[in-house]
Amino acid sequence: MIIKFHGVRGSTPSPGPATIRYGGNTSCVHILLGNGKHIVLDAGTGLRLLGHELARIDDPVYLLLSHGHWDHIQGYPYFAPIYQPEREINVFTSGPSGQRLLCSLFDQMDGSHFPVKADELPSRGECIFENTESILKSHNISITRKALNHPGSGTAYLIDDDGIRCAYITDNELEPPYRVHTTYDEWVEFCSGVDVLIHDAQYTEDDMPHKHGWGHSLISQVRQLAIDAEVGSLVMYHHDPDRSDGELDEIARENEIHFSGRRAPARSWCAREGMVIQLSRRVAGGDTVFEIR
Ligand SMILES: [Zn+2]
Ligand SMILES: [Zn+2]
Repeated sequence: MIIKFHGVRGSTPSPGPATIRYGGNTSCVHILLGNGKHIVLDAGTGLRLLGHELARIDDPVYLLLSHGHWDHIQGYPYFAPIYQPEREINVFTSGPSGQRLLCSLFDQMDGSHFPVKADELPSRGECIFENTESILKSHNISITRKALNHPGSGTAYLIDDDGIRCAYITDNELEPPYRVHTTYDEWVEFCSGVDVLIHDAQYTEDDMPHKHGWGHSLISQVRQLAIDAEVGSLVMYHHDPDRSDGELDEIARENEIHFSGRRAPARSWCAREGMVIQLSRRVAGGDTVFEIR
């Protein structure tokens, strides 16, 4: 499994001198499975540069959306493969808001917000919002879903690549003040022992209580989840647009101190645009080997 981060920012793009190292593009992660399948998690503005890479090959693309907020859909009109004739692009979402979510992805291409209309695209796009897991299984992609605690709802994904597992949980408030879709204990179970946990870590204690209920987690809560779920590695993701490179460096340093001497997680990072995590098994059933670029 090769995981590459193309957009790591939450809420809105945040280019500028203060974010140049971690990057200002919004949510987008590419996962290449061992069987050659290309999974794209979310279609934030990071999707544009990934599109240049995927336009050079002709494999099908499996785009899994967490939800329909701007920072998860705005890269789609600039995704080069959608302009390739007959290119197979399968868009997946799920849950009761699935249809509405797909509307947000395609309605932004209505000729008013964007010059090209979605129904004029030459690619072969299929939108699936029911039976996501079984349909992906028929394409040799194994995923499990979980409902996010987020205004308007959304979906987390657990991807299992022949025993190497990555959980993608963004725009999730671990302990929200509103009705909980997934409890903390259920999150611990969902990502128990995964090799990589990618989790929304948008807020610090200074952001509270003002932003309690906005659908994102505290960095301290995410650290605790990584410990309780005994994950192999933690990637903090969906950084606040106002979080500077220097502040993210400091959070990464605090992570090292917080996790030192603990069994899990063995590694942690603040996600950075262009960061690559390559995971492989030394032998079947053996330890996972990590390579970071
Ligand atoms: Zn978001
Ligand atoms: Zn959101």
